[in-house]
This record gives sequence, C-alpha cells and structure tokens, in this order.
Amino acid sequence: MPMEPRTNQPEVWKKGQQVVANYNFPGSSKEDLPFKKGDLITIINNTKDVNWYKGKNESGQEGMVPATYLQKRKEVQLHAMPWYHGSITREQAEDLLQFKEDGVFLLRDSVHFRGDFTLSVVYYNKVEHYRVILRQNKLEIDGGDCQFQTLIDLVEHYTKDADGLCTRLLQPLQKKGSSFSAVSVQDFESGGWVISQKDLQIYELIGKGEFGDVYKGTYRNQGVAIKELKDKERAGQAFLKEASVMTSMRHPNLVQLIGVVIGDTIQLVTEFMGKGNLVEYLRSRGRSVITKKDQIDFTDDICSAMQYLESKDLVHRDLAARNILVNDNNTAKVSDFGLAKYGDYSAEGGKFPIKWTAPEALRDNKFTNKSDMWSFGILLWEVYSFGRVPYPRIPLSDVVMHVERGYRMEAPDGCPQEIYNIMMQAWEIDPKQRPTFKQVLEKLNNLRATTV
Ligand code: ADP
Ligand code: MG
Repeated sequence: MPMEPRTNQPEVWKKGQQVVANYNFPGSSKEDLPFKKGDLITIINNTKDVNWYKGKNESGQEGMVPATYLQKRKEVQLHAMPWYHGSITREQAEDLLQFKEDGVFLLRDSVHFRGDFTLSVVYYNKVEHYRVILRQNKLEIDGGDCQFQTLIDLVEHYTKDADGLCTRLLQPLQKKGSSFSAVSVQDFESGGWVISQKDLQIYELIGKGEFGDVYKGTYRNQGVAIKELKDKERAGQAFLKEASVMTSMRHPNLVQLIGVVIGDTIQLVTEFMGKGNLVEYLRSRGRSVITKKDQIDFTDDICSAMQYLESKDLVHRDLAARNILVNDNNTAKVSDFGLAKYGDYSAEGGKFPIKWTAPEALRDNKFTNKSDMWSFGILLWEVYSFGRVPYPRIPLSDVVMHVERGYRMEAPDGCPQEIYNIMMQAWEIDPKQRPTFKQVLEKLNNLRATTV
C-alpha cells in the first residue's frame, strides 16, 4: 500500500476539489473517513500535514483522508489517430507500406464490410491484413480474443503485445495532414471517471436525445440522469467525445458529468435536472408562473456558464433553450456539449439549427465565442417570449436571406429594454462588434441585482 513518502512536492488540493479513491481505506481512528476504491471524496480543507486532508464522502460524512490513497480526477483528452487512413483500398495500403520495416502499420476502413476496419502491418517485406470486426459496439481482431471500445485501445494493446499477430505494432505509418482524433476508454478509467453499473439504479424514461434515450435514476442515493448510447455503429466515439469535453469542465451552471458506465453499452451519467429543458419549462408554465425575476435569473445563470466556456476557449455551437436544463432549485445549466469544440472551428459538413446559428457560421463554418453570442441573443429572445420559436411567420428557408439583409426580430412583449439592447448587440452582423460574454455578464449581474 502506498504510504511511502512522496518523491516530488505534492500538489495542494483546494476546498471543493473532487478526488477519487485509488485504494480501499479502512481508517484507523474515529477521526478517519473510511472509503473504498472508486469512491468520490470532496476536499473540505487541508491540514498541517500535506498527506492528510479533511474530506466529505457522497453521503455527507466527514473525516480525515490520506492523500496518497486519492487521486485528483483527470481530464480525458482526445488522442490523435495519425495511423488511421480512412477509406483507402488494400492496394493503396500496400503501396504506402512498401519497403517499410517490420511492425510499421496503419488502420483503414474495411472495403468489404461496412463499419469494420482493416489493420495492415509489415512483416518480412510483406503486408499482412487483419480484419477488425465491430460487434455490439466493440472492436476485435478476427480470431483474436480481446475486445476494445475504440481503435486507440486496440492499437495500444497490440503495441505492447503481438498477442497472436505476426508482430507487435511498432511504428505507425502517419497519414499526412491527418486530423482524426478519438477518445480512449482507458483514459476514462485512469482518470477516475468510470463508475460501476451496480451503483446505478435506472428508473423511467425522461427524454430522447440524438445518441440515445435519457433515463432518470440514482447513483449512490443521488438523483442522476442516465443517457444511454443506442446501438448505433460508431456513434460511440461522438458520445465519448461529448463525455471527454465534460471531464474538463466544472462550473455551477454547467450540467455536471458524474461518470460513465462502460459495459455492453456506454452510459453517460450526469446530475439530475428535475425541471427538464428550458424551452418546455417556459412553454408549459408561461406568463402566469414565470416571473421577471425567473427570467433574469435564468439568463444570468446561462451567461455565467458561457463566460466560463469563453474563458476556456471552448465554443458550444448549439446554444439554445432546448439545451438548457433547469433543476429543482430553479438553477439553469448549460448542457449538450455534443458539438462543442475548442477554438475556432470548421464543421465537418454539419447540420445546423439555422435559426440559432450566426450568419458567418452558416456561411463559412466560422464558429467562435462570437457565434455563440449570436445564439445567446436568440436564447434571450426565447426566454422573454416564453419559449416561442424564433422568427415566427418566416419560413425557415427565408430566414438567412432576411437576416443577411438586416432584418432582426422585435422585442418580445414585456421584454425590458436593457435585455433587448443585448439581443441587438449579439446580432451585429460583424462578429467583432458583438460583446463578449464577460461584458454581457456584468450587465446581467446588475440587472439581476435590481430585479425583484
Ligand atoms: P441530445 O442533445 O442528444 O438531443 P439531450 O442531452 O438534450 O439529448 O437530452 C434529451 C432530453 O432529455 C432533454 O431535452 C431533457 O428533457 C432530458 N434530459 C437530458 N439530460 C437531463 C438531465 N441531466 N436531467 C433531466 N433531464 C435531462
Ligand atoms: Mg439536446
């Protein structure tokens, strides 16, 4: 057990930091807080001894915890897949690998079996091809006995051990200008994000998403939402990418990832948001229930999360009231990182929510924090019109033309002038003229403070 002295200076954990247990800790005195491997502990404060903290478990019990048994949760990052060459033929693969050394390899889409892949590897001046079969969302080499969640995991395994192949994978044949990237399931494990199926209870269906159904459930007595990946070939990667973005984000107004379950299906577990999505909330309650104060609270919450994303250079790309969730305390949180990307991003020929997307993003695929600001303007309009569909009475196919010619929506009935001013600034045609979320947040904070 790892109670040895630390070799390098330990990192100091701050109050509120979440850490995950690497080992079981039975505790040896009344002051100790026992825990099991995989448990989540929230740091309450440090002590004079750098190896001990005061912590709290998920049932709210507090006590002393040894830092050497715990690990900060690590962010899961995308890996480049330089060895993935997409849909090239067997002949092209052989040409590329000609005269290469033993163990040089690449992966490509299978020509004969859609959804499968082929691993091509050099051995004794010949190229061997292995079929990689996708079966129930898992990958395996034909005839092999290991299953993998992603190509990255597969490559990692056969890099360490030939395990039945003619040779270990020694060196990738890099695809020029490759921009493919993927997430490895192992990183979720080593980062402390994998939770066990048996800690999870699943109750009723509460929503349907693009990747799969959403259920209400509990995880160790905490209310959670469970998004289950439907059995859809290769959607696994998109789903895991959404989860990987969530591992690096923590803000009171962002829907928090609790963990992922990796089994026959992949499940994404997030905090439960009892009042569902904002657009349905606004429509079903309407003017009789939702007050001016609620409206400013929602918009300020959302702006606060967006300011955080802006500070991290993350572009949401699908900001809309349908992607905001509301919890039982009426706190609004931004969800749906499915499309989120770092920095300035060009889409892979996507399908966009036209009425929410900025003109330059639709035209040139230029998605930035400024295009998110445009969408935020539309979202403000949704909030103050109690969930109406934007640009009422304009056919979808004409919206872009009207907007490009300078048409802008009028203020919804009863919308405060300050809010409408923000909308109009968000809808400046020149992205540079639009305010930052930081600037808007300041205005909304003031407005919130003066709205009763
Ligand atoms: P997608 O973006 O793939 O369409 P969502 O994540 O938006 O899927 O989920 C679909 C619906 O499920 C939401 O509109 C909401 O009603 C419900 N839902 C999703 N996540 C939660 C959650 N954490 N708490 C409560 N309801 C949720
Ligand atoms: Mg959604």
